[in-house]
Amino acid sequence: MIVILKETACEQQIQALRNTLTAQGIKLHESKGEQSHIIGLIGDTKSLDIDSLRADPAVEDVRRVSEPYKKANRKFHPADSVVDCSGVLVGGGHFAVMAGPCSVESEAQITEVANAVKASGAAILRGGAFKPRTSPYSFQGLRADGLELLRHARTQTKQPIVTEIMNTEHLHLFEDVDIIQVGARNMQNFELLKELGKIDKPILLKRGLSATLEEFVMSAEYIMAGGNEKVMLCERGIRTFETSMRNTLDISAVPMLKKMSHLPVIIDPSHAAGLSWMVEPLAMAAIAAGADGLMIEVHNDPAHALSDGAQSLTPAQFDELMKKVTTLVPIFGKTLETL
Ligand code: PEP
Ligand code: MN
Repeated sequence: MIVILKETACEQQIQALRNTLTAQGIKLHESKGEQSHIIGLIGDTKSLDIDSLRADPAVEDVRRVSEPYKKANRKFHPADSVVDCSGVLVGGGHFAVMAGPCSVESEAQITEVANAVKASGAAILRGGAFKPRTSPYSFQGLRADGLELLRHARTQTKQPIVTEIMNTEHLHLFEDVDIIQVGARNMQNFELLKELGKIDKPILLKRGLSATLEEFVMSAEYIMAGGNEKVMLCERGIRTFETSMRNTLDISAVPMLKKMSHLPVIIDPSHAAGLSWMVEPLAMAAIAAGADGLMIEVHNDPAHALSDGAQSLTPAQFDELMKKVTTLVPIFGKTLETL
């Protein structure tokens, strides 16, 4: 981090700043030119409050030269992380497909979809039990009963299950869930992220609707800072000026996240487009861009789905997609995880 001092800063103010910084264990490297006086901060600057430094009377500006995330940073962990999801590996050349309905609706629905997506090659079963809906009058999910139905489906298909948590108070209900999903709307629910940092379970963290990639990786850092390093990043489309799709899939996020971080990157083309016919081309693009997995919504009767029917594939459409996924994944140097 570099601190640029004000031309008008007096020696007394500068000395006070030096004292504050050294008291925090930071070493200083000063350079005083004709035009400017700068201080290079050496050491662990991640806990320094950049805003309060900027507010210091001696300071003109502060610039970061290293990233504020450490545990998630590729620089300190050059190899790809591989997350073990109850036996299904994700990352480091292992590509996994997570598929299932947006919401768990009934025993018949989740069992039928689970069997279908497994037969087509999805290693992981998804299904929402606690649903974050824009309208309080929309279906809110079967909640604890939905989790029970997911567990029941797992006994039949043996697929690890991934499902969304919305509240720290529900954590005890997720004890035997294989992967906990943090939805886009909760990406910056820092108290939730801190609690998830205390458990030993894979977390699928979805990117917030208008979060920058640095904010996204910082949310992963929250979980990792607590001790849980099993984090997977999921790009699911962001808000832009474009209105033809539900969101805009930020495909550039894949190579950029991989440069920034060693964590696996999953693409969710269903929420990105909001349109079932667009899921396949976006899924292909994700594989080509270097993603480590896909999350895809599949429903046995999309027209009557209680949530996200318009973006859900039928089991037959998913089967067609999986044929292409199976061909494409090895071409891009990865192995498709199967059960
Ligand atoms: C979901 O996976 O059904 C979901 C609500 O996703 P997101 O948080 O990305 O909107
Ligand atoms: Mn959904």
